[in-house]
Amino acid sequence: MKKKISKVLVINSGSSSLKYQLFDMDKGRRIAKGLVERIGCGGPKDHTAALDQVVADLGDAARGIDAIGHRVLHGAEVFKDSVKVTSAIMKKLEKLVKFGPLHMPPNLGGIKACEKIFKGVPNVAVFDTAFHQTMPDCAAMYAIDPKYYKKMGIRKYGFHGTSHKFIVQEAAKFLKKPVSKVNLVTCHMGNGSSLSAVKNGQCVDTSMGLTPLAGMVMGTRCGDIDAAAVLSIMEAEKLTPAQADNLLNKKSGLLALTGSSDCRDICAKAAKGDKQAELALEMLAYRTAFYIGGYNTIVGGADAIVMTGGIGENSTEVRERIIGRLGALGIKLDAAANRKSHGVTAVLSTKGSKIPVIVIPTNEELAIAQDTVAVLAR
Ligand code: ADP
Repeated sequence: MKKKISKVLVINSGSSSLKYQLFDMDKGRRIAKGLVERIGCGGPKDHTAALDQVVADLGDAARGIDAIGHRVLHGAEVFKDSVKVTSAIMKKLEKLVKFGPLHMPPNLGGIKACEKIFKGVPNVAVFDTAFHQTMPDCAAMYAIDPKYYKKMGIRKYGFHGTSHKFIVQEAAKFLKKPVSKVNLVTCHMGNGSSLSAVKNGQCVDTSMGLTPLAGMVMGTRCGDIDAAAVLSIMEAEKLTPAQADNLLNKKSGLLALTGSSDCRDICAKAAKGDKQAELALEMLAYRTAFYIGGYNTIVGGADAIVMTGGIGENSTEVRERIIGRLGALGIKLDAAANRKSHGVTAVLSTKGSKIPVIVIPTNEELAIAQDTVAVLAR
């Protein structure tokens, strides 16, 4: 008989920080959460030392952990679902480092540290890309010589999959439909943002691409841009690929347009009449509405538009601007519901709207814990 999995530790291991949450899955509740910072730069010397600190911080709660779920950035085409980590799986994971040279080494470092410290406790890798692996080729391929796909794996992968999958499941419950029958446009809007088209519970398109740079206007990322514009800037400013990457990922988006990457600051500036802040919010709303319209077509008519993430769950102003652009889909904003809904499940459209707009708070850590239990129950 399989061992019952009750106590699950969730690890999100980044290059210089490690976030963790501990769940009691019997009660479906969080027992503890925390963050270890400055790994390798003043704090713990490596991820093993960081995990030693997690164990110390957890105290008695660190005893009896049944399983550990790890957030892993990239599963490429190898992993279409979460997976229990064995030495053979670890070898496959090591080969995927090229898909996320910044994130994958610390992600895998977190798993290796857990293998050392929590001996015999199973580790499960949960991928940001896995949910999107059901995309058809017509959505996933780029219109370039196919040799770049064959040689280098250049295609659309998509990210935030754990969050999209979680809100699909929650939305299906809310709509009282089986997941396999639900058509949705899901909008994860935080510092990084992505939209997904979900048909019969499966992802058929998503706005991020080979990397999390594509799609929406984001906190510090430009999202969709003509590739020739990037080449022109590189040539004019004599930028290396690494410098261009930094410019587009870290110094673009809302930050470049307004001086701040935080939506709250930008809304406050726009309310005072700041023209750049106003333009940035309109660009964000425009592009989001553009994708919602396209994805509604792709899924053959959505049962609901679902919003989540820091902005989707909280920003009255941004939601108003987006929903205000969806009139052609028969959607009308319920202004009172929009004003009072923060961080809770709520319907933001009027009763008469053709497609409801629903806010569903995401919980990526709980989703990772749930997947960990599901994988080990197989
Ligand atoms: P991350 O992608 O880093 O997880 P979040 O999902 O926390 O980010 O989203 C961060 C964004 O959400 C920021 O732009 C922030 O301004 C916005 N946000 C968070 N809370 C609110 C709020 N109460 N009102 C408006 N925007 C908010």
